[in-house]
Amino acid sequence: MMTQRLYYTDAYQTEFDGVIEDAITVAGRPAVILDQSCFYPTSGGQPFDTGRLADRQVIDVLVTSQGKVAHVLDGPLHSDLIGQTVHGAIDWPRRYDHMQQHSGQHLLSQLFYRQFGMETVAVHFGALDSTLDLDAASLDPAQLAEAEEAANELVYAAMPIRAYEVTETELAQLPLRRPPKVTGRIRIVEIDTFDYSACGGAHVRTTAEIGPLKLVRQERRRGQTRITFLCGKRALADYLAKHRLLTEAAALFSAEISETPRLIERNLAQLKTLQRELEIAQEQLLGYEAAELVAAAGAPEHPRIVSRLFAGRELNRLKGLANQLQQHPNVVALLASSANDKLTIVFARSSDLAIHMGNLLRDTLQTVGGKGGGRPDFAQGGLADPTLGQRLLDAAAQQIRAVIG
Ligand SMILES: [Zn+2]
Repeated sequence: MMTQRLYYTDAYQTEFDGVIEDAITVAGRPAVILDQSCFYPTSGGQPFDTGRLADRQVIDVLVTSQGKVAHVLDGPLHSDLIGQTVHGAIDWPRRYDHMQQHSGQHLLSQLFYRQFGMETVAVHFGALDSTLDLDAASLDPAQLAEAEEAANELVYAAMPIRAYEVTETELAQLPLRRPPKVTGRIRIVEIDTFDYSACGGAHVRTTAEIGPLKLVRQERRRGQTRITFLCGKRALADYLAKHRLLTEAAALFSAEISETPRLIERNLAQLKTLQRELEIAQEQLLGYEAAELVAAAGAPEHPRIVSRLFAGRELNRLKGLANQLQQHPNVVALLASSANDKLTIVFARSSDLAIHMGNLLRDTLQTVGGKGGGRPDFAQGGLADPTLGQRLLDAAAQQIRAVIG
């Protein structure tokens, strides 16, 4: 005997008594088969119900290969004797939420078909949101808005949703969007002549109970369009969460929500301007710093070595200073900066000198196992040991003096 599925006739029944027909294990967990049950097993895309059965929690519900409903439990029943009657109660908020999403999907699929001639080719009901895939390459935002508004109008219309069985002959008379996958007597779920679907799922009584319906996203997927939607409390929760976020954002500007996007835009523009101004000011500052260092290094008619070890100076500001020093005549800049775990080195010279900075840096670093090199007038490199800075700068200065005498 197949398990009698009580939700077929009454999707609002939450408690029942069932007789144990079999006690089995499913993936190592105890499970029981009953003669009848309110528990919805994972099928048709709709997730299973949870709840209680006698002294245990029902943690999964599935259909066995013999077409029976197996209630997977968090532990063996205190007494699982065959023929014994047990009391079951489903987690109603979870089930009702699934009924809302599922009924909303029927409504939307028919709506997309009628409004735009788009067929639903796949549906998925997830723990957070649900999706339907349309056989359309894309949907313009106006169509999405139109479908959402029409769907909510149908919710307000409180159209009755009924489930009943028909014969194959009767089925031929019904305007189904898609032919059923099963034969024999077929269960039809009808939204008041608006939609007829062959479906074994659990649905709400009228479209009103679907509650607010929100289309949250569309994505293109392999030539199809995936629509993500929320019904009932999920749509409300989404609204509450977004309202809270926007309120927080508006509070940061001490403004109304409606003004917030414009204020963010204005602040980003200001930030860009300030960053540009800061860059110019930093450039000027480096210019002054370079001039001072050069003046302290001696008379302009002789090659002047500017050697400086900094602590924690960023590479960009090190390079910036080297660039400024290069602008002066007869200057060799030997700069290094030590941070926690590394040493950064930049060598540069004026265009009127002939020493090769790339070679100088490479030779200097080779003695201590560091890496670096570069062009004749500019070179940079690094070393894992930050304590060697002064030693390297002195070695490089000595080599330059040897070359220029
Ligand atoms: Zn359905």
